[in-house]
Amino acid sequence: MTVAVSRTRGRFAPSPSGPLHFGSLVAAVGSYLQAKSGDANSQWLVRIEDIDTPRTVPGAASEILRTLEQFGLYWDETEVYQSQRLDFYQHHFQQLQANQQIYPCQCSRARIAELGGVYDGFCRQHPLIDPTQPLAWRMKSQQVHNYFDDAVFGRVQIDAATAQEDYIIKRRDGLFAYQLVVVLDDVDQQITEVVRGADLLTMTPRQQALFQLYVPQVPKYAHLPLAVSAPGQKLSKQNHATDIRAWPLSVSLAAALRLLGHPPPAELVEESCEVILQWARQHWQLSAVPAVMEVQVDAFR
Ligand code: GLU
Repeated sequence: MTVAVSRTRGRFAPSPSGPLHFGSLVAAVGSYLQAKSGDANSQWLVRIEDIDTPRTVPGAASEILRTLEQFGLYWDETEVYQSQRLDFYQHHFQQLQANQQIYPCQCSRARIAELGGVYDGFCRQHPLIDPTQPLAWRMKSQQVHNYFDDAVFGRVQIDAATAQEDYIIKRRDGLFAYQLVVVLDDVDQQITEVVRGADLLTMTPRQQALFQLYVPQVPKYAHLPLAVSAPGQKLSKQNHATDIRAWPLSVSLAAALRLLGHPPPAELVEESCEVILQWARQHWQLSAVPAVMEVQVDAFR
């Protein structure tokens, strides 16, 4: 991959496991504003993360794209589908294999559960491979840092065992894992700003380490609060009070901006999404986004 980064490039990377819900609207709006409130040449891309085919719902990707357009969140360049990039992933997988940066693993889920859920690197030292059984591939992660600097949260410390876990990059069912493809795509698409939900905070050091195998300069990472209905509970799709399809678009957009610490002035709330977004582009500052993991959302007003 040859990379020449010269301008701001952000992205929104939804997994099409259902329609766009309020939680992903927050990530879409935050990543859009962070990309688009900067220089005039900045770009915001959309990447459909449909690598996990068993979780992909037919029609969800086009519904998400249509909803983004309805909100006035227009993206640059043609949207990218991970399901169409398997050769690219395979090429890089083979390179990691050739460089011995990954190793095969057949440890069972039960064994990993006994370890408390964090893999202990057993197969790195003792590859006990049964050629009749499927295997997963894991990344060697001993060098991964247990902290990183986030543009919203500041320095984030991660439990060292989690940060340095040899994580799966190719699954036992043969699918490439999110952890690998998200980074290959961010490198390939020359992303300079990764803005997404705080549920991915703990994954960031490993993604940055993988990134640095390809380019020295990692993007800026900014994590946004998650919308929850109760502590620890992501908004459910059944919750009508926060279903974006149940509200005028501008009401959901204003609610997303409030969650992101940018409440639109009262006189704008009845305006179109275009007008609200224009205001938001002028006023966007990552420093105003609350550095909290979750924000409880009961209803939009
Ligand atoms: N596809 C992931 C999700 O929908 C987001 C990945 C990312 O932004 O890095 O949760």
